[in-house]
Amino acid sequence: MIEVSKKCIGCTKCVPVCPFAAINMIDKKAVMNEACTLCGACVQVCPVQAITITREEASAKDFSGYRGVWVYVQLDEAGEKGHAKKIKPVTFELLSAGRRLADELKEDLCAVVLTDKNHGYEKDLGAYGADKVYMVEHDELFEYNTDIFSTVIVGLVNRHKPSAMLYGATIQGRDLAPRVASTLYVGLTADCTALAIKDGLLLQSRPAFGGNIMADILAPNSRPQMSTVRPNVMKMAEPVLGRTAVVVRESAKLDKSLRRVKVLERKLDHGAGAVKIENANIIVSGGRGMKTREKFKQLEELSKLLGGVVGASRAAVDLGFKEKTHQVGQSGTTVSPKLYLSFGISGAVQHIVGMKASDVIISVNKDPNAPIFNVAKYGIVGDAHEIVPKLIEALRKN
Ligand code: FAD
Ligand code: SF4
Ligand code: SF4
Repeated sequence: MIEVSKKCIGCTKCVPVCPFAAINMIDKKAVMNEACTLCGACVQVCPVQAITITREEASAKDFSGYRGVWVYVQLDEAGEKGHAKKIKPVTFELLSAGRRLADELKEDLCAVVLTDKNHGYEKDLGAYGADKVYMVEHDELFEYNTDIFSTVIVGLVNRHKPSAMLYGATIQGRDLAPRVASTLYVGLTADCTALAIKDGLLLQSRPAFGGNIMADILAPNSRPQMSTVRPNVMKMAEPVLGRTAVVVRESAKLDKSLRRVKVLERKLDHGAGAVKIENANIIVSGGRGMKTREKFKQLEELSKLLGGVVGASRAAVDLGFKEKTHQVGQSGTTVSPKLYLSFGISGAVQHIVGMKASDVIISVNKDPNAPIFNVAKYGIVGDAHEIVPKLIEALRKN
């Protein structure tokens, strides 16, 4: 329920920020109409805190009206206004997982696209399993903005009432999902590594206590049940070409004043055109066992010869052998390349969780009992400082 108290001074600041045209000024007081979705945007701008939103006790709610598994569609950040943007692969991974969940719940799988212009995104989204695409097109959605995107999503959720919503645990998803969750006053499970259905609820599993246990989390008292999942954690299904989704066009009245943060400039910290570790097909990773920065540099050469990207354990990053953006693992990046080569990495659970989905793992460690050998397809017990130069030499000859 939304209420405007006597404190209202009739300043009208709340009127333009309401994306749903739900505020009328009557007798110099703000009055909300039935279009209000409880998105909360007006609460933030009121200079005298005259607006309050009261939410029902979650446990007293009837959730039978909440249906549908939603996936937030993340588009590439770069790109000019009006131009087609690529859909981030994590979206397809989430749709693949979401399809399984929606089938089990016998509900629709829906994708949510916020963009300045639709470029036929429903084709790919449908091919990866979406039944429906909620499409919001507006000039103000040309680039990601926390205030604007969260306001639109909260409005859509309040209007259509999905039972679950999934986001990629990307920089954008990690910014957006908590904002939506706090506005809706629902829970959010970050960095899930497995999703399933249990007694009609979304069973969200994620590592806890430094990765030493897996926690299973249920949210029985709020809707939607919300999770973020890192890229490369869920397997992407094969697309069914020609299968498209039904597009449901949604309108939102968005005003610039909602945008409290303005992006002035974007600077990429990777070399222009460099392949990011999460997208690499081949990763050559090193750990503390590489001993020095100079010796670690040999991995750069090996990776170049193989056409791969260098990865590192957290210990190697802490020792300054490689930048944090190359760290693989629980507090780094989750990867699933075709080939993962590791040198001098012990295989702590926090490292394994970030690379175990790789197609083929080859590990070199001088300790035959190193836990990395438990996940490696091929293990070589030996000295990395002897093996790496030999590999470089052999590859140079080819
Ligand atoms: P070590 O464990 O010290 O292993 C070095 C290995 O090199 C040993 O197995 C040794 O036998 C071998 N070795 C030594 N010399 C040679 C040689 N000449 N040739 C071949 N092998 C040799 N870690 C991550 O990697 N990623 C994360 O994201 C991450 N997140 C974490 C989050 C939390 C909350 C916590 C608590 C820890 C996290 N860690 C993470 C740290 C993790 O627990 C380990 O400490 C770390 O992975 C160890 O790195 P390492 O294998 O390089 O070093
Ligand atoms: Fe306020 Fe949002 Fe309701 Fe508009 S829709 S009145 S901005 S809570
Ligand atoms: Fe009233 Fe606050 Fe709206 Fe101003 S912003 S009209 S004070 S409710």
